[in-house]
Amino acid sequence: DNMINMIAAGEVIERPASVVKELLENSIDAGASRIVLKIEDGGRKLISVTDDGCGIEAEDLETAFMPHATSKIRGSDDLDGIVTMGFRGEALASIASVSKVNVVSRRLDSIQANQLEIDCGQKKPVRPCSGDYGTTIEVRNLFYKLPARRKFLRTANTEMGHINEHFTRIALAHCELDLTLINNGRQAQRLAGKQSVRDRIGQLMGKAVSEDLLETHAEEKGIRIRALLGKPVQARGSSKFQYVFLNGRYIRDKFISHAIKEAYRGLIEPNKHPVVFMFLEMDPHMYDVNVHPTKIEVRFQNSNMVHSQVLAVMREKLLSTNL
Ligand code: ADP
Ligand code: MG
Repeated sequence: DNMINMIAAGEVIERPASVVKELLENSIDAGASRIVLKIEDGGRKLISVTDDGCGIEAEDLETAFMPHATSKIRGSDDLDGIVTMGFRGEALASIASVSKVNVVSRRLDSIQANQLEIDCGQKKPVRPCSGDYGTTIEVRNLFYKLPARRKFLRTANTEMGHINEHFTRIALAHCELDLTLINNGRQAQRLAGKQSVRDRIGQLMGKAVSEDLLETHAEEKGIRIRALLGKPVQARGSSKFQYVFLNGRYIRDKFISHAIKEAYRGLIEPNKHPVVFMFLEMDPHMYDVNVHPTKIEVRFQNSNMVHSQVLAVMREKLLSTNL
C-alpha cells in the first residue's frame, strides 16, 4: 500500500539529503569500494548513486523495495548489536513511494544486469539489461506528487549544502572509500580510496583545518577512542567542526558534546569553537541505535563511562600541548 509507504517516507525522507544518506549507506553495506554520487538541481531533479558493491539478484530487486524488506536482519537477536548502517528495511520503499526510481543492478556471479523502474510506488516488471557489476539507483523528481512536501524544499544551494554535509560525514567515516561527487554535471569532489583521515579532512575542509591537528588515541574498558583536535575556530553559530563517529556511523550525542566542551574549558577564547574529529569504537552491544529512524542518535548503556573517557583523553592531550 503506497499510502503507508508515503507516511513512512515522511519519517525517513525529509529532503534530498536524506535520500543521499540512505543510498550511500546502502552502498557501504553492500561492500562497495567506489561510489559515484550525482546530483542535479540540489537533488530535486536527480539523485543518483552508483556503486561497485555486491549487487542485487533479479528476484530480490522487487522485494528490496517492499517495506521492511531488509536483507540485514535475520532474527530478532540481530536487533541487538547491529553492525550494518541500515537495518529497518524501509528506506528504499519510502524513497520509491515519493519519487521516480530507476535501479540497475548486477551481481558478480550474474551474466547480466537487471533493471527495475518504480514511479511513486508503481512497479514495472523487472527486466534484464546491460550494466556493470554493482548497483546504480537513480531517484528523480522527489516529492513530485506531493506539492506540499515539494514546496517545503529550499533552494538548490541550500539542499546542496545539506547533501554536502552528509557526503562529508560518510567520507570522513569511510576513508577507505573512493568517492566522487558530481554536481550539475561538474565534478565537485574526488576523494581517492585508502586516504588517511588527515588527508581527507584536508581535502574536505581545507589545509587550514587539517594542518595542525593534534592526534590522540586511547583504549580502555572496551572503548577505543581516536581523536584529531584542531585549532579552535571563530564561532559561526552551529558546531560545524565537530564530527563524532561511532563504529563508522556519524552520531550526535549530548554526553559526548558536553565532554568535548569540558575538555576545552579554560583553554580557548569564549567566542571560539573547538574543532574535533572523533572516532569511537566499541562493541555494538554497548549502545542502542534504534532510537530514531534517521539513526543519528544513540543510547549508550553507560553514558557516564563514555563521557569520562572522552573527557579524560582529550583533556590530557590538550593540557600537554599548546593550542
Ligand atoms: P536496509 O538498508 O535497512 O536493509 P533499505 O530499504 O535501505 O533497507 O534496502 C533494502 C535492501 O535492498 C537491503 O537490505 C539490501 O539487501 C538491498 N540493497 C539496497 N541498496 C543496495 C545496494 N546499493 N547494493 C546491494 N543491495 C542493496
Ligand atoms: Mg538502507
